[in-house]
Amino acid sequence: MTPPLAWPLLALLGLLIGSFLNVVVHRLPRGESIAFPGSHCPHCGHSLGALDNIPLLSWIILGGRCRYCRAGISWRYPLVEGSAAFLAVLALANVGWQWRLLPALLFLWALLSLTFIDLETFLLPDWITKPGMVLGLLLNATSWWTPAFAFCTPLDALLGLVLGYGLLRGFAELYRWLKGQEGMGHGDFKLLGMIGAWLGWQDMLLAIFLAALSGGLIATLILLAGKGRNTEIPFGPYLALGGALMLLWPRPITTFFFHLGVA
Ligand SMILES: [Zn+2]
Repeated sequence: MTPPLAWPLLALLGLLIGSFLNVVVHRLPRGESIAFPGSHCPHCGHSLGALDNIPLLSWIILGGRCRYCRAGISWRYPLVEGSAAFLAVLALANVGWQWRLLPALLFLWALLSLTFIDLETFLLPDWITKPGMVLGLLLNATSWWTPAFAFCTPLDALLGLVLGYGLLRGFAELYRWLKGQEGMGHGDFKLLGMIGAWLGWQDMLLAIFLAALSGGLIATLILLAGKGRNTEIPFGPYLALGGALMLLWPRPITTFFFHLGVA
């Protein structure tokens, strides 16, 4: 049973974590420290007080502008905060009030950070994907002692890591051989390896399928909108979306695809 208070608490926790993830997304790719200096306006450098830092609310009340210099503040800030809270509530609804919720939240928030870093820098940093792979393996290895935290068996996790990395790398090598240009970055292989290490090879395969499906859909929409073929879109956010969907709805998605296969 989920205690009723868990819902607002998790939403609140999500907002706070989202506010922290904004700092991670903004500062770490620039090689800045997360801890120092404290929050400041990236435009005028004025340090921000507690009232300027309330997740979602401050951005809305200040109309998306810095209180001191009135420079526009990126919509990315409220979006990451809102998404982190939304993901926390979705995780509670689908994973339930149990120990596994903790790694589920960690996984979803890591995917959220990777999505926004990839959108802004076209990179999926190793300092998230590599520890992510190791953590996924360790997490699923705990199923030797207790089923409370794991998402799959240790063997499925190991296969997921190796297959996820290897499969995407194979595709990329093939693409390069056929087209003579890079289609994907090494960060994409590591991200899929991480998803495999957390969810196992079966769900990893469905995650890449969902990524290709949503990626193809968005690419078609962009072409239809007349933006042309030269709009560069990173693949990381689609992989992250696939991973998040498989964590939240593994059974309905698996059933759906197996029915399609049988039909
Ligand atoms: Zn400012």
